[in-house]
Amino acid sequence: MKSFFSIIIFLLGIVNPVFLNGQDFKQELVIKSIYKNALGSRKAYNDLRYLCKNTKGRISGSPQAAEAVEFTYQLMKQMNLDSVWLQPVMVKNWKRGKNEKASIHSSIMGIIEVPVLSLGGSVGTGEKGITAGIVEVKSFEELEALGKKKIKNKIVFFNKAMDPTLSSTFKAYSKTAFQRTRGAAEAAKYGAVAVVVRSLTIVNSDFPHTGIMFYEEGIPEIPAVVISTNGANLLNNWLKKDPGLQFYFENHCELWPEVLSYNVIGEIRGRERPDEIITIGGHLDSWDNSEGAHDDGGGCMQSIDVLRIFNELDIEPKRTVRAVMFMDEEYAQRGGQKYAEEAARKNEKHYFALESDAGVLTPRGFGFSLADEKRLQNLLSLNVYFKPYKTNLFKEGGWGVDIYPLRHICPILIGYIPDDSRYFNYHHSANDTFEKINHREMQMGTAAIASLVYLIDYFDF
Ligand SMILES: [Zn+2]
Repeated sequence: MKSFFSIIIFLLGIVNPVFLNGQDFKQELVIKSIYKNALGSRKAYNDLRYLCKNTKGRISGSPQAAEAVEFTYQLMKQMNLDSVWLQPVMVKNWKRGKNEKASIHSSIMGIIEVPVLSLGGSVGTGEKGITAGIVEVKSFEELEALGKKKIKNKIVFFNKAMDPTLSSTFKAYSKTAFQRTRGAAEAAKYGAVAVVVRSLTIVNSDFPHTGIMFYEEGIPEIPAVVISTNGANLLNNWLKKDPGLQFYFENHCELWPEVLSYNVIGEIRGRERPDEIITIGGHLDSWDNSEGAHDDGGGCMQSIDVLRIFNELDIEPKRTVRAVMFMDEEYAQRGGQKYAEEAARKNEKHYFALESDAGVLTPRGFGFSLADEKRLQNLLSLNVYFKPYKTNLFKEGGWGVDIYPLRHICPILIGYIPDDSRYFNYHHSANDTFEKINHREMQMGTAAIASLVYLIDYFDF
């Protein structure tokens, strides 16, 4: 049965008053109702609390990841959706192991412990750990200049800080990520025995921020850890006073056999064009040291909440709208690849895909990636609907790691853009907890996503 609200919308549709600077008044009312519903609901926020507190450390392959799959599957099962299913995907199974520790040993300053964390994919040091002299660099060029003579049998300390003067923290991140992802492979070329990498965060803190790293074929695989920014500053300081100091660390990572996991998918079937698919999603896995509240439990719960809002407001999309909880974004992106593979194999017609994986902080807008310039301009012009909600930063260029593999069969990819000032305070660290989530910020974002999905579906771009 239709709600009173839907009847009003239906009547307005018949009268179809086009005013308010050419905008469709009916659309504005629907959007208003979406925001009202989102802001008045604590469902997704409470579900996120459960996910964070009960499946903390849900790295792909872990029991916590399996629990997160079960939780979100049951969550969507209870929502009266048209279908909810698990999409099987084999995932890598890297385990950190226990007792990671590090200390600096100086004959001048003494001994001090510093917070470190293995990088995702790192090998372990073995029982005894590694003790060696340490060489600080900020670039691969510096590494090359030092050469084998200075690097061999040493630990290389990559200490390039994220540039706080850049207005985009994502840009600052991308300019320093090389040392985390490729530092070990580069240092090993010159005979280094291990690497210690400065955490990729703007703030000075004691939290190490992990993330994926890659070895190169034919190059020795050496252990790699990140050190907190406070630890990195201290090490830098001590090295100036005592260049001959020793650094010790041990870690015990192992790569276990691959295991079966799942993407979790729920959908509302389209009323007019059920074969055309709109995908909205986030990734269900998190790093093993983290509750994964901003990265990316929040994005997952927002995606599910869009379906709840559509159902509660009787918004019947023309096209099929799917919420997808992608598995394994952090380690090997297997979930996103599998979803795209299956979509291609089934010849599915994808209309657009949107991902929320930049935190659930204050909403700013959306980024759009598509080849058709006219369509792009039309999409960008939708930002007028979002002005009252201060979420009208619509720009060219945007996607998400999990929806990126869909690009060959999906003409429009969209990335949700929240404010990025605080994101890297949390990213990939134990500081990314549920307590860092603001209900209003999260739900303003959910409302923006739901409104955009509604508009793009309605206008048939
Ligand atoms: Zn993420």
